[in-house]
Amino acid sequence: MSEHKAKFGELFIVATRMGYLGDISLRALEVLKSADTIYCEDTRHSRKLLDRHGISTHLQAYHEHNAEKVRPIILRKLDDGKKLALISDAGTPLISDPGYKLVSETRDAGITVTPIPGACAAITALSAAGLPSNQFFFAGFLPPKQQARCKALTNLTHIPGTLIFYESPKRLSKMLIDAAECLGPEREAVIGRELTKQFEEFRKGSLGTLAAEYTAEDNPKGEIVVLIGTAPASDKAWNDEAVIALLRRALQDSSIKQAAADVAEHTGLAKRDCYQLALGLKD
Ligand code: SAM
Repeated sequence: MSEHKAKFGELFIVATRMGYLGDISLRALEVLKSADTIYCEDTRHSRKLLDRHGISTHLQAYHEHNAEKVRPIILRKLDDGKKLALISDAGTPLISDPGYKLVSETRDAGITVTPIPGACAAITALSAAGLPSNQFFFAGFLPPKQQARCKALTNLTHIPGTLIFYESPKRLSKMLIDAAECLGPEREAVIGRELTKQFEEFRKGSLGTLAAEYTAEDNPKGEIVVLIGTAPASDKAWNDEAVIALLRRALQDSSIKQAAADVAEHTGLAKRDCYQLALGLKD
């Protein structure tokens, strides 16, 4: 390490809990205790969390309204050798939360950025939803206006993995109606609500059923993750050409049996059908 670099401080990106108080790592608590300053979205909110862990480190606000002004100050402090932490109101900073530009500029300045992993609503929901988890696409919040929302959903039609969205409770039923229309009412979906909190709930069903259920009910309460499974086998995305292309690629490194199994898992088609197609290709 150069002499100049040795005097640099370090920026820690620290995940905190989303709900349950104990969902924060021992390492996160150590880092927050020993940091010179913790940057957070809302100092009053974060003070409460830190008080409950007996941490008295100085807090400063870093959020979308002051980021342009505060970022250069943070970079100067890091250059002066300070150890700083960034947290958000819940879960992992940068995941639909502030921090991307700060991390990018800190790295560009040659200063170490260290992640302290922990809770994240998208991953928490995926881990217990019972939808395919081998491939997924985190789409964050959809646009609130219907036309833009439908366009964004349509762009995701052929993503070959589970789609994960954050959504507000008051928009959930409209979002589900649009998703059923753009992605197909048969797609399996799961609504994860109030994860790690007292009223945690997972509700699974087809997009069409969930759209009907949530439209008939009052707006749900709390925080929500929407997960949408891959397109069913009948979806026209998986026409023979597309499946054959996948099989050809899989056959380059795998046996017929393995290639068929991988493509069947990926597309939702029957293993038997993929095997027959793969046999033909190998011949
Ligand atoms: N950075 C956070 C993370 O790591 O998940 C996400 C912050 S984003 C501003 C807030 C959104 O995350 C909420 O509107 C909701 O969609 C989702 N979320 C956060 N906590 C949640 C929880 N306990 N249960 C379900 N969804 C949650």
